[in-house]
Amino acid sequence: MAKENMERAHALLSASAAARWLTCTPSARLEETLPEQTSEYADEGSLAHEIGELKVKKTFIEPMTPTKFKNALKKLQQKPLYQNEMMGFTDEYLDYIEKTVHGFTSPPYIAVEKKINFSAFVPEGFGTVDCIIIGGGKMHIIDFKYGKGVPVSAEDNPQMKLYALGAYMEYSFLYPVETIRMTIVQPRLDSISEYEISKSELLMWGELIKPVALRAFNGEGEFTPSEYACKFCRAKSLCRARMDFNMELEPEKGKLPPLISNEEVGAILQRARDIAKWVKNLEEYALNTCLSGGLIPGWKAVEGRSNREFIDQDAAFKKLIDGAIVEETMLYKREPITLTKVEDLLGKKQFKEILEEYVTKKEGKPALAVESDKREAIQNKITPEEAFKNTEDK
Ligand code: SF4
Repeated sequence: MAKENMERAHALLSASAAARWLTCTPSARLEETLPEQTSEYADEGSLAHEIGELKVKKTFIEPMTPTKFKNALKKLQQKPLYQNEMMGFTDEYLDYIEKTVHGFTSPPYIAVEKKINFSAFVPEGFGTVDCIIIGGGKMHIIDFKYGKGVPVSAEDNPQMKLYALGAYMEYSFLYPVETIRMTIVQPRLDSISEYEISKSELLMWGELIKPVALRAFNGEGEFTPSEYACKFCRAKSLCRARMDFNMELEPEKGKLPPLISNEEVGAILQRARDIAKWVKNLEEYALNTCLSGGLIPGWKAVEGRSNREFIDQDAAFKKLIDGAIVEETMLYKREPITLTKVEDLLGKKQFKEILEEYVTKKEGKPALAVESDKREAIQNKITPEEAFKNTEDK
């Protein structure tokens, strides 16, 4: 079971769902009434975590013979969801930990897959931290994320801060801690996000969220839909508050001009982002309901379109070649694999060493993004320098 799912299975207010229950406090109790969901992606992440854990343990915690390590790794590699690329990605996670450990002047304390308890701040709150490193007054909280959707930032991340609170409660009696660095390593997106706060800032945040966590535990407060909060909520398809929010129309204000303004375009696009996701969630829900014999008035499940395919392509082609009907060269095409696949084959480190000089990155096609996006805004407008250069060239 994935770490996130395990946390959900036992803790009502899990660290991984904190961004949701801190903004939409009744969500946790509502989710409790709905069935658990798991996905192949989550199980794939769990396996990558197990491989990462084994490597970190072997390097820092329980030195093991090469045979013992090989056997333990082989067991994991035999699991159906195993992919070769997991080795390279878990190496990157290990690399980050090694670099962090080597930054200490004397050997720090290291723990992996450590169960921590943050119930002093959140009722019945606990979770599992991937890696904790403590030394010289500094505590590192490292989270390995195997997802490849969007990079997750460690900055002000409530999941990381709850892990940090739990780790602080666990270790501050043994080790003095003044600053906490939280890091999310997401190798499939080439993303390492770090964020540092002081012990007092962390504890202050813990006090601040205490009453919110209590409301969430009691299922009190207002449902507060937002793109971020609803995204992974178990109630995302059927939640009435999300529906009301998405269906809400602006009240008419007097006689409006026949063309909408740029302000309205911006506001509609903001709203449409979640509406598109919500409609997709509803479609998935309705299809599953129809397939399991339920009724969604006006809708039914049908067989989707499919293409013809060979039962045995090799045998079919052999017949054409052996019968001299079509030449073999006409039946196969040689295509290079993508750059990403080559990188997956070699691992990021080796790819960089051998092929860096052959790689370039073209300018991306202009795309629309929300204002908070970290990328710099671009324009097609000619700069005065460019305009001046053009006149000079003539
Ligand atoms: S779907 Fe959104 S609004 Fe509804 S409970 Fe979940 S987080 Fe709250």
